[in-house]
Amino acid sequence: MPSIQKPVTTTPYPSGSWTYVDAVSTGHVNGESLKAKFKLKIIVVGAGIGGLSAAIALAKDGHEIEVLEDAPKLAEIGAGIQIPPNSARILQSWGLEDRLQLKSVRPTSLYWRRWQDGRVIGYTRYRPDFEKWYGSSYYVAHRAHLHEILHERAVELGVKVRLGKRVKGYSLVQASLELQEETLMADLIIAADGIKSLARRMLNSSAPSTLRQHNMAAYRACVPIESLKGNLDISNTIDLESINLWLGDSAHVKSYGIVGGQKWNIVANVPEVREVEDWDASEVTSVARMQSFFKGWDPTLEKILDSVTDTRLWPVQDIECARKWVSPSKKLVLLGDAAHAMIPFMSIGAAMAVEDASALSQALRLVESPDRIDHAVDVYEQVRRHRTEAMHEASYRHAYTIHLPDGPLQRARDAQMEDEVAGVHFVRSPNQWSDPTTQLWAYGYDAAAAIRDAWYEEVASSHGL
Ligand SMILES: Cc1cc2nc3c(=O)[nH]c(=O)nc-3n(C[C@H](O)[C@H](O)[C@H](O)COP(=O)(O)OP(=O)(O)OC[C@H]3O[C@@H](n4cnc5c(N)ncnc54)[C@H](O)[C@@H]3O)c2cc1C
Repeated sequence: MPSIQKPVTTTPYPSGSWTYVDAVSTGHVNGESLKAKFKLKIIVVGAGIGGLSAAIALAKDGHEIEVLEDAPKLAEIGAGIQIPPNSARILQSWGLEDRLQLKSVRPTSLYWRRWQDGRVIGYTRYRPDFEKWYGSSYYVAHRAHLHEILHERAVELGVKVRLGKRVKGYSLVQASLELQEETLMADLIIAADGIKSLARRMLNSSAPSTLRQHNMAAYRACVPIESLKGNLDISNTIDLESINLWLGDSAHVKSYGIVGGQKWNIVANVPEVREVEDWDASEVTSVARMQSFFKGWDPTLEKILDSVTDTRLWPVQDIECARKWVSPSKKLVLLGDAAHAMIPFMSIGAAMAVEDASALSQALRLVESPDRIDHAVDVYEQVRRHRTEAMHEASYRHAYTIHLPDGPLQRARDAQMEDEVAGVHFVRSPNQWSDPTTQLWAYGYDAAAAIRDAWYEEVASSHGL
């Protein structure tokens, strides 16, 4: 008599109902080695968050890693970075939890505020919800600290980081690249060379994925938290343990504590039409110009911006996601912004690079011998393209929602967030960080598990199952 069987494939509909099975699964993960079955010599180009993450993931698996970085010294400029649970869980698995806790802040909540008066119009609760639901806090940190933690861990794992090494060209037929005075060979090359990636241009020469401007820019600044706490108009109105976001027509300001809560990070997005070719984001720019843009906004926000003494202006740009991530030889792969730089309105671009690193190392762990790494990089490309293209689109759509002018759409948006503000159960929200479906997809995602699922589904289908 036929009986109902335990499903072996992934659920073909959005569902959280099957995680209880995974929790006690005796399937793929158990019995699978946590190291690669062979050792590869891998060169990673770029020592940004993506390149260093790849170096850590692959060095942990037993591979020999060399990182080449153009810059003569490692120094992340910029201010804060948000580290959502989908990447924080991976960082924890690399042994970075203590360092992360020490250097970062775990905000309690996120408040969306009306531009004019600071009234709360949207709400996401991080603590304790995210710890319970997604297995990790939502962290915020100074970019330099995250970068430092990653670099330190990579070096501990034996990764060789060579600074002042600019890659001039890649071979598409073998694993080799050109520096000024030498040619280097490896078993695999990972290009984590950022939004202007040379490797991406070479791999996609027939269908270039060009840089896109969106006529927006972000002022970024940091102020001592004491200067805000000391101002009662600010500290009595704003929850300084949380992330606060003021939304208005074509602009928004986001702010949160970093540096173990000692500093307050401010990102102010404004319309800006400018040629970016000669734009130097490290240049200190006019504070008065930033402040004048927000005149007439919530008086508390104006007071916060008054405390800024220096700021830098960053272009807000992305690329059309790369169609090809892998060379014909399967020996050169893209990772991080090089493949999928997105506008920062899901606050998740670097987290995608961390996921890429975890996914690539998982794919290589599944391969039995070095002559089959082609299969691993193909599965990596297929799974990561799907995930990052969707996140790229989510970032673009969120930019629309966040920047609505006052009017019927803005009122409809705000009305749909009333339940989350009131703490009443809700099933959908324009706030993509709260919307239960989008939130689970963004933060509940397990990059290594997605690779395993794709891999075993392919194995099953090749056996006609
Ligand atoms: C305003 C703003 C806010 C953001 N906020 C968040 C956030 O809150 N959370 C989040 O997850 N993401 C955020 N992001 C996105 C995030 O910053 C990026 O996705 C991430 O830093 C990309 O890392 P990467 O290592 O791929 O690239 P990069 O950081 O660009 O690193 C590339 C490295 O490659 C090197 N390089 C380039 N070419 C060569 C070459 N030819 N030879 C050798 N080396 C080379 C470069 O010098 C650089 O060090 C934000 C982005 C912006 C602009």
